[in-house]
Amino acid sequence: MSVNLQTPIDYLKGVGPNRAELLRKELGIHTYQDLINLFPNRYIDRTKYYKINQIEQNSSEIQIIGVITNLQEVSQKRGKRLVATFKDDTETMELVWFRGIKWIKESIKLNTPYVIFGRTNWFNGIYNMPHPEMELQQEHDKSLRTAMQAVYPSTENLSNKGITNRVVSKIMQQLFLETKAKFEETLPTELLNSQGLISKSEALLNIHFPKNQNLLSRAEFRLKFEELFYIQLQLILKNIIHKNRIKGHPFTQVGNYFNDFFQHHLPFELTNAQKRVIKEIRKDLGSNAQMNRLLQGDVGSGKTIVAFMSMLMALDNGFQACLMAPTEILSVQHYNGLSDWCKKLNIRISLLTGSTKTSDRKIIHEQLENGQLQILVGTHALLEDKVQFNNLGFAIVDEQHRFGVAQRAKLWKKGPSRSVQEDRDNKPSTPPHILIMTATPIPRTLAMSVYGDLDLSVIDELPAGRKPIKTVHRFDNNRLKVFKFLKDEIAIGRQVYVVYPLIQESAKMDYKDLMDGYESISREFPMPQYQISIVHGQMKPADKDYEMQRFIKGETQIMVATTVIEVGVNVPNASVMVIESAERFGLSQLHQLRGRVGRGAEQSYCILMTSHKLSNDSKTRLETMCRTNDGFEIAEVDLKLRGPGDMMGTQQSGVLQLKIADIIKDQDLLKHARFCAHQILKDDPALKKSEHYPILKTYRALSKYKNIWNYIS
Ligand code: ADP
Ligand code: MG
Repeated sequence: MSVNLQTPIDYLKGVGPNRAELLRKELGIHTYQDLINLFPNRYIDRTKYYKINQIEQNSSEIQIIGVITNLQEVSQKRGKRLVATFKDDTETMELVWFRGIKWIKESIKLNTPYVIFGRTNWFNGIYNMPHPEMELQQEHDKSLRTAMQAVYPSTENLSNKGITNRVVSKIMQQLFLETKAKFEETLPTELLNSQGLISKSEALLNIHFPKNQNLLSRAEFRLKFEELFYIQLQLILKNIIHKNRIKGHPFTQVGNYFNDFFQHHLPFELTNAQKRVIKEIRKDLGSNAQMNRLLQGDVGSGKTIVAFMSMLMALDNGFQACLMAPTEILSVQHYNGLSDWCKKLNIRISLLTGSTKTSDRKIIHEQLENGQLQILVGTHALLEDKVQFNNLGFAIVDEQHRFGVAQRAKLWKKGPSRSVQEDRDNKPSTPPHILIMTATPIPRTLAMSVYGDLDLSVIDELPAGRKPIKTVHRFDNNRLKVFKFLKDEIAIGRQVYVVYPLIQESAKMDYKDLMDGYESISREFPMPQYQISIVHGQMKPADKDYEMQRFIKGETQIMVATTVIEVGVNVPNASVMVIESAERFGLSQLHQLRGRVGRGAEQSYCILMTSHKLSNDSKTRLETMCRTNDGFEIAEVDLKLRGPGDMMGTQQSGVLQLKIADIIKDQDLLKHARFCAHQILKDDPALKKSEHYPILKTYRALSKYKNIWNYIS
């Protein structure tokens, strides 16, 4: 009879109720299954013996054979320490104890070979090993060990309660004994062969008890592949199921609005990337499925016109469209930009934000419901229950990462109101097509994991003729030179941003920094020769808007602001972006801010101001900014600096909690695993073929246990 891996851990010999409770609480291990998926953090290679003269600083735990020639107690500020002189045939080092001195002194045998094991430190001109694990060589040679010893994740509480690494190893061994080390294969034979993967049983055995480095590597490879493969398989299947189940409005007509705009009103020649993406969207909208597409494009790559032309496809088919942006300023900008185009096409468009007057709001609500209004632009005010569309067919969300998934879901329900018949049948209403736009490029592998269930479009080309922004890093004591440069730029008619950090926790201090900065700039750039705008989060929306408008119209030359201008603001005549305390900004934020300039024909500049005190990470960020303008390259560096969880926010961290693979180090494997999953599903989307049965079974178990690693049964 085979052991059921869903058996509670309490039943494993050597565990018992107390240990089971601890394992559950500390490591989330409830079943045999969970234990087997407790993968080691690292391994200690106990096949290798070091000589003392081979020790290097920062070496990991090592073992050495030698003899103790001398023992000495040394008094120190608090208590004593015991120091042993330890020698081999190359050098001398010290072993040090701070606790249990009496017992150690009594039990140590001088001038007898010991095998010592531990981490070494360099101190006072000599290597020492504090609290070594030690064993007489004679006994060491007799005991049985696997060459590579697994080190498992642990907690303080576990080790305090006596569940040491050795104990975990032992119960793991017990598990392998009880199961006879036979585990059900979870990948099809064909895939194992084509990818050169070892079997599941072999992989599990060697991840816990590696026979040698080579088998360990193959075990890791197999398990990483499997983990990534199943994550991707689930995401792709979600997409397929979505497409099959969720009907969308088929936009079959390519009609007057689109053609009229394309033929007569295009303000510029579209880039090839823009054309390609419009085609991708058009293809989706023409199908029967509801579109869920993520549009990625660097700042300034021209996502807005793509969004607009997509909305025209909805309008051409008699539907309404909306565009939601994360801030008031951005919504206003979008509205202003789109209004110009709408006027030419006779399209009715409105703006709805938190500061829309009640009377205007009423009109908007009415016109939305009776269908007069064709396009609505706004902030998350669009999500309010009172906002009801007549027949919303297409919704665009700009800067997705600022909205939660829940908010995205709300948009779904704003589809056309249901017909009486549909109501009677209790059919859900058809959701609008959804296009999500993000201006912060996401590294490809991350996008695959977090948005792997969405279709992805990328604008990977900037409009022709853009001059790359020149970015420099300057220290605060060079401020006068920087001011001089700003004056020169203003003298030839350009405008300048000066941005201060705003971080929630220290909002007050930041506000003071901003005001101090504003004052010193006012002194340096006196009226009436210079006019300065200021925008920050504590201002009323109307005042913000007023100041913004002055800058947009060119009435002011300098815009002093906090990061409220981070996203989307478009003033093509602005050519210099000065970022104060640049070391306090994250990479994507710096890149976003820089994207506010370089929007016109002129050469633009970004000046990163910092103090002399810089952490290594800050230095990397600044260097990266000075080196490249490529948002995708910057995103890759950001991912390495911050890690995936931080980068994407906690919302999505579930997808990113990998047990064995590493989204950064295993990028190539991730792409490959996705490719393999894709191939299989292309050939057999319902996983009906008998050779795919292991996948189907695993997939079902996965959906049941919700955890990628809980699926062998
Ligand atoms: P983002 O992708 O950052 O939202 P926008 O859509 O705001 O970029 O476009 C940035 C600027 O580039 C705008 O001023 C826009 O008019 C201009 N633009 C967009 N596409 C093109 C193009 N194909 N050729 C020339 N200029 C373009
Ligand atoms: Mg934009």
